[in-house]
Amino acid sequence: MAETLTERTSDHHGLAAHEVLLLLESDPVDGLSEAEAESRLRRYGHNVLPAAKPDGPLVRVLRQLNSPLVLILMVAGVVTAALGEPVDSSVIFGVVLLNTVVGYLQETKAQAALDALRGMVRTEARVVREGRSYRVPSEDVVPGDLVLVEAGDKVPADLRLIRLSELRADESALTGESQPAVKDEVALPVETPVADRRNMLYAGTLLTSGSGAGVVAASGAETELGEIHRLVGAAEPLATPLTRKIARFSRILTVVILALAAVTFAVGVVRGERAVEMFTAAIALAVGAIPEGLPAAVTITLAIGVARMARRRAVVRRLPAVETLGSTTVICTDKTGTLTENQMTVRQLWIPSARYEATGSGYAPEGHIVDRQGRPADVTADEALRWCLLAGAGCNDASVGTKDGRPTIVGDPTEAAMLVVAGKAGLAADVLSALPRMDTLPFSSERQYMATLHADPVARRRVVLVKGAVERVLPLCRAQMGADGTTRPLDPDAALHAADGLAAEGLRVLATAVQFVAEDADLDESALGGTLLFCGLQAMLDPPRPAAADAVAACHAAGIAVKMITGDHAKTATAIAGAIGLLPGRHPGDVLTGADLRELPDADYPDAVDRAAVFARVSPEQKLRLVEALQARGRVVAMTGDGVNDAPALRQADIGIAMGAGGTEVAKEAADMVLTDDDFGTIEGAVEEGRGVFDNLSKFIVWTLPTNMGEGLVILVAIALGSALPILPTQILWINMTTAVLLGLTLAFEPKEPGIMHRPPRDPARPLLTRALVIRILMLSVLMVAATWWLFEWELGGGASLAEARTAAVNLFVGIEVLYLFSCRTLDAPVRRVGLLSNRWVLGGVALQVLAQAALTYLPALNSAFGTAPLGLRTWLFIAALSVAAWTIVALDKRLRHRIV
Ligand code: ATP
Repeated sequence: MAETLTERTSDHHGLAAHEVLLLLESDPVDGLSEAEAESRLRRYGHNVLPAAKPDGPLVRVLRQLNSPLVLILMVAGVVTAALGEPVDSSVIFGVVLLNTVVGYLQETKAQAALDALRGMVRTEARVVREGRSYRVPSEDVVPGDLVLVEAGDKVPADLRLIRLSELRADESALTGESQPAVKDEVALPVETPVADRRNMLYAGTLLTSGSGAGVVAASGAETELGEIHRLVGAAEPLATPLTRKIARFSRILTVVILALAAVTFAVGVVRGERAVEMFTAAIALAVGAIPEGLPAAVTITLAIGVARMARRRAVVRRLPAVETLGSTTVICTDKTGTLTENQMTVRQLWIPSARYEATGSGYAPEGHIVDRQGRPADVTADEALRWCLLAGAGCNDASVGTKDGRPTIVGDPTEAAMLVVAGKAGLAADVLSALPRMDTLPFSSERQYMATLHADPVARRRVVLVKGAVERVLPLCRAQMGADGTTRPLDPDAALHAADGLAAEGLRVLATAVQFVAEDADLDESALGGTLLFCGLQAMLDPPRPAAADAVAACHAAGIAVKMITGDHAKTATAIAGAIGLLPGRHPGDVLTGADLRELPDADYPDAVDRAAVFARVSPEQKLRLVEALQARGRVVAMTGDGVNDAPALRQADIGIAMGAGGTEVAKEAADMVLTDDDFGTIEGAVEEGRGVFDNLSKFIVWTLPTNMGEGLVILVAIALGSALPILPTQILWINMTTAVLLGLTLAFEPKEPGIMHRPPRDPARPLLTRALVIRILMLSVLMVAATWWLFEWELGGGASLAEARTAAVNLFVGIEVLYLFSCRTLDAPVRRVGLLSNRWVLGGVALQVLAQAALTYLPALNSAFGTAPLGLRTWLFIAALSVAAWTIVALDKRLRHRIV
């Protein structure tokens, strides 16, 4: 079989379904046997694409060398060697080496953080083996497996369809065609191109409607997707709009600085300076002023942010989301499962002739149905109650079982709750199996109801069972059922009134109805209207998540509006929204329904949408317009979604958020972020992390720029004055290399500031550096130059050697950077607010930097390599005093401009 399979993988569309099954030795009903599936898994391997071959170490090393700074350094190294300065030359090459190692390690760490995300959102497939259907991880699907698919699924492997209903697939990932492809199971000519093979489903494509079953024709690398993967390889780029902006800024700066260096060199030579010295000075200027560490630091800060979010169960699928999250101003969230627990329990049954309550909680079968007086109900005595329960349980795709002694459900919690309540009334599986299902009209958010057709051989008839939203089911009814099973005139007002009352208690209300038809009748959606017998209402409780209220309050404190968008009834939605603090002082217009939205004049739409906090009975199509309207009002919108039809809104939102546990693959593909626990609190956590990431980026930039500018200025001033360089090019290299890693990078690990969720969202249009920060950067650059210069001259004047004076200047530069690092740990408040010792990375980095400076000053080997010399205690005291003075000025500036950032 191995040979036949591999030889003919691409021909399955040319064979009839039964031939394919024969070829793949599978069964259209029972699928493979467990043993066979296991043996095929061993033979063909897991259904995974071979990991994109990461660039080899050599390529990655070479990539580090491909930067203007490194190229300048290499030229400088070669020229210095040619000029007979072997020590300087080796220092320069040493720095190139160090730069490469650091860059390599940073890139590896950032990539590892992203790679770790990949395994966090698992995909499952539904297979039939030995006649039973269950979910397996997609990677365990083997050739010959019978796979069941439905709208919302991502196709796990290449499948030859054997049966289907209304199946359409979005194959744009494979063919580029944006219109969903209509599928059927008819054999096609062998030469049909992939894009036209209607009887095949391809791995990685998404199902937009319908359902079907197919047999796996190819898995893993053998799939069409595997083929494409082989051709292009797929490595996630580590780029976002911000990293690109910063890279562009660095490039422009590099060019400007290089031009400045060239001019400096030319002017010096014309003025009669020695060419060698001028060359060295020009190199020092370039090396000092180019902010070479910036792009790498931004990337690593983003990557650390991604890892932190993942730890809080928010998996970022697109890196730019990390930036956008911090500026989110509106979160539009689903209700069921995100704000609530998605733990449905039917509490009340409203039957036209009677009211009942159900005891017990959760999906445990314990509990009874009791009447108003608390007496157990007799379902055989109330036909309407019996059919209400049967409709709920029969028109149902969920199942309830137990795992580790606890009840577990498979499928939709709403349906599971209806199964459980029928069980409490003694309507167990055997009652339902007496009514085998013949056909289904599946539930969808648009239809808002579900209908099934059942045989009832004993009564020689068929039965249509219907359950769904009250406003949708009631209009389909022509009458209602009496307790004795007879047909009574419909009283829709009473039912609607009852439903409103139940919904106002925060209960989800579903109406049930039946229709008795002839033994040969079909299920026809268009013929359902005005034919059904209304049986009653089932009202279920889905309690709010305990932490939802706190998360909503946190968002409000952070200036973020939270809007609930739900398919549920307005009253239910309002009750839940009230319970979690979504509707503080009630105002008219707080709650809008889908119908209200449709009636709003275009001109009023954005305003009304911006004001409302709850959107009920909204269809997925309306979500897109909601997002667009909010964006038109300048909002940065995060939107959750789980269904196929949510995808356009998820794509349109600034942050599309899909549910990892309950969402479809289609929604996950469209989203920027996936919540592994579906919890609203996780979104709030991710926003907080997003703000932290942005803070840390700003902190790094505000810290690093003055160093670069200061170094450049020192050299420029020296050349302009025609005096000796206070800091040598190799010393500038030393400062840059050691401080960027030991000091600057530690800011990426800065914990979030205490008040981070008590300030308004960042305006995305606002530049990364505010005017106040630019002034601070300029001020510190000038301070650094002035202090260094003064100390250098003062040392020389006091009889120190040039080497000693330069060593003092270098140490002062680093000293100011160290203290400024503490200052940058918070941009607008005194450091004590974040706690002086709260970032251990900073403390460790500073300790290492101090050791490095001691080594540079006192180790003879470093003395001769970098032209330094040991210093006395008095000089150190000066260095300390000047550093503290510079730091004090920054602290004063901060205090004066309190809260400007
Ligand atoms: P959200 O997750 O956005 O808060 P929701 O889950 O409440 O929304 P939908 O799933 O679109 O919204 O459900 C809309 C309405 O359809 C429900 O209020 C309910 O009346 C009805 N409904 C929900 N699930 C089913 C089902 N499985 N069968 C029949 N009707 C259903």
